Amino acid sequence: MVEMKKTLIFIPSPWIGHLNSALEFAKLLINTDNHLSITLLNIKHPGTPFSGSYIRSVLASQPQIQIIDLPEVKPPQNQPATASSLWNFMEGIKPHVKSTLQNILSSYLNSHSNTVVGLVLDFLCAPMVDVGKDLGIPSYLFNPSNAGFLILLLHLQKLQIEDLLRYSDPEMCVPGFPSPVPSSVMPGPFYTRDEEGVVGCCNFAKKFTETKGIIINTLSELERYAIDALTDAQTPPIYAVGPLINHKCHPNPNLEQAQHDLIMKWLDEQPDSSVVFLCFGSRGSFDPSQTREIALGLQHSGVRFLWALRSPPTNDNEEKTLPEGFLEWMELEGRGMLCGSWAPQVDVLAHRAIGGFVSHCGWNSILESLWFGVPILTWPIYAEQQLNAFRMVREWGLAVELRVDYREGSALVMAEEIEKGLKHFMERDSMVYKKVQEMKEMARKAVLSGGSSFISVRRLIDDMISS
Ligand code: UDP
Repeated sequence: MVEMKKTLIFIPSPWIGHLNSALEFAKLLINTDNHLSITLLNIKHPGTPFSGSYIRSVLASQPQIQIIDLPEVKPPQNQPATASSLWNFMEGIKPHVKSTLQNILSSYLNSHSNTVVGLVLDFLCAPMVDVGKDLGIPSYLFNPSNAGFLILLLHLQKLQIEDLLRYSDPEMCVPGFPSPVPSSVMPGPFYTRDEEGVVGCCNFAKKFTETKGIIINTLSELERYAIDALTDAQTPPIYAVGPLINHKCHPNPNLEQAQHDLIMKWLDEQPDSSVVFLCFGSRGSFDPSQTREIALGLQHSGVRFLWALRSPPTNDNEEKTLPEGFLEWMELEGRGMLCGSWAPQVDVLAHRAIGGFVSHCGWNSILESLWFGVPILTWPIYAEQQLNAFRMVREWGLAVELRVDYREGSALVMAEEIEKGLKHFMERDSMVYKKVQEMKEMARKAVLSGGSSFISVRRLIDDMISS
């Protein structure tokens, strides 16, 4: 007799910071329970032209995961990537998702060996909840960020839009946060009081509550307080399943193997825990004047460094933005290395020579740094990074503050401040270091058999396959 497979339809969003953990999660589910099969719908977006080949390379060893490319839908031209433009983009994809799902369902009708038990939607794909409802398929939300960010959005969408736009208190009490959240670390649209952005974020958040469960790339040991606050009658059940980390540095179109090997060779030559790694996520870049200040700060600090230098997309040559003589000085001194616009971040953080990470505090970067026990010096730039930085420093004591409220368009952080911050950071704050090492141990235990995230995954699968 053919055993019935329970199929999950994964719809990740194509941006690397969302894809990485979603793909790891798909692999984890498949490897945990052999009743499951997965079909992944690949969304094409002109801003991420390599996502399809990236997905295929990450899943190359997982033939149980089928990949279907959705037809390309062009986002409206000349519109910045805001919550509302993303919402419209996802709305435009809905009809294609629906017809693809209908095809899958009708092919299963004839085969009798498969049944679709759920959609797993990245949180930017939350509008697809409606498609699931139309076709009678439950949706699970996949949040590649953290429980704190989720509860903040759920809290904000309950407030009146007019109040959010008029809001002038310097801080806000939010359930799940042990201390009030300063308005300076609120996500972009709530900070700038941009009506379209606020409405867009609230639209997404409303959809989150229409799901059968919310999966979060976090661990309960880190976010106990926020997860407890989310465990109420109005919020779908929460599954903390992280950290989900892609340990294999997959080929990236922006990183050649030769460059990867050069970076590793250079790190091999450095003393233990002596190098600070600077990397600001998949989209983080600074304009020439800020780049210059960073370069001078590094030069004057005396600290060894590996720097993923990336200019804004309008500037095609990163190195042109450096102070005169910097490259020659670096060559002569041998104390630093530029690693081009894409760094093999996981391999770098795993290297014994790395002693600190100047990070934009994207959630994947935070989890990766905790996994390898590398402390962070905070320099947030966009999205929910200010909130993450604030929590890392103030709530958890897991990072050292350079800035928690920097964002695109902020005043320059001057070289002297960077120099001082780097020196203090690399001298090692023993309290922060100790806490990071403790969290590293907890993170590793959480995913092992019997660990909190391991148990959560099992609970989730039971819910999925019992329907
Ligand atoms: N990343 C990388 N090399 C880079 C920049 C980013 O490997 O030069 C990876 C990083 O390891 C992480 C992801 O891309 O897994 C970025 O996710 P994160 O949530 O930290 O930031 P985002 O890019 O979403 O802002």
